[in-house]
Amino acid sequence: MEDIVRTRKILEELVSTPSVNPFDGKGEGERAVAQIVEKLFNECGVDVVEQDVVDNRYNVIGTLKGSRSGKRLIYNGHMDTVGVKGMNANPFSAELDEAGFLHGRGAADMKGGLAAMLAAMEALSKENSMQGELVVAAVVDEEYLGRGTQRLVKDFSASAGVVGEPTGMKIGVAHKGVARYAVEVIGKAAHGSSPQNGIDAIAEACKFISEIYKIEFKKEHQLLGKPVIHTSMISGGSEWSTVPAGCTIYVERRTIPGETEDDIIREASEIIQNIKSSDSRFNASVKLWKYFPPMQVQCEVVSYLQALVSDFKKPEIVGLPYWTDAATMNAAGIPTVVFGPGSIDHAHSNNEMVNLEEVHQTSKIYYKLAKTFLNH
Ligand SMILES: [Zn+2]
Repeated sequence: MEDIVRTRKILEELVSTPSVNPFDGKGEGERAVAQIVEKLFNECGVDVVEQDVVDNRYNVIGTLKGSRSGKRLIYNGHMDTVGVKGMNANPFSAELDEAGFLHGRGAADMKGGLAAMLAAMEALSKENSMQGELVVAAVVDEEYLGRGTQRLVKDFSASAGVVGEPTGMKIGVAHKGVARYAVEVIGKAAHGSSPQNGIDAIAEACKFISEIYKIEFKKEHQLLGKPVIHTSMISGGSEWSTVPAGCTIYVERRTIPGETEDDIIREASEIIQNIKSSDSRFNASVKLWKYFPPMQVQCEVVSYLQALVSDFKKPEIVGLPYWTDAATMNAAGIPTVVFGPGSIDHAHSNNEMVNLEEVHQTSKIYYKLAKTFLNH
């Protein structure tokens, strides 16, 4: 485990293998990375399960069984990345620069974390020092709908979990949820020469938009602050000379623990009702597209991680600004924290990178966490 060469080798192999999420039909998907992970699991001699998730995209899950039965710990790392358009250099170079950063799409989000998990499992598989079971789950589709982890938790329960998204080795115990909804605004078409005979749905939609930015959120979370809201997309109208009969606004609302999807739909419906009460022509309805819950966890793993991180730096417990698969794990009853190498500022960026030394330190922590947590 002292040897950084092996961590680097695994990370290079993952980053140099494209695995762009295919949600828009352009990415190649996770298959090639899944094959690398599966080969490594087989070399380690651990039990391997493939879970078919969607369109021949599958999770690869390795289970290392300890000398005695006991607790089970899941390390979860997603294999997919976002696209590579606009990146500065070869997105799959996996080149190490002089400052010790390894470059390429997915380096931070989150092939660094996945490499650290794999290196830790490999080291543990060569010893007989662990009790219980360590599960490393390489999952698909985190960057779109999170279906990989939804599938994972159908077959796997555990005493605890760690999702290795880039937290810069801070311990993430909470993050916001995401509600995405559409507001359909109905107007009335009329000839452009007589707009007084119609109802301009685009102008009506503006009324809703201006209201969402006036919301005063009362609840505030200790680590996450207040909820936030913004518009994402808009579509409406049909041609130059026609008053638009319809307009749809797409809205994203980030939630804090304690809020539910019903709360968000109620909030939007109330805005619609309020506009209507002073303007009877206003005609709109709200429809939820997707809801990803927030998460907040209290878990034994936190104190183990605090002790282990202190070998390298001052441990910090944080709330995260972004959503992760840890929400799905927690919702399924697996207390899960977010802890991994790299900075979220590099994730999805046109110069994505991760510090190799940090990946290696995280790997050592994953290695020791499996032993200490599972042996108690
Ligand atoms: Zn990620």
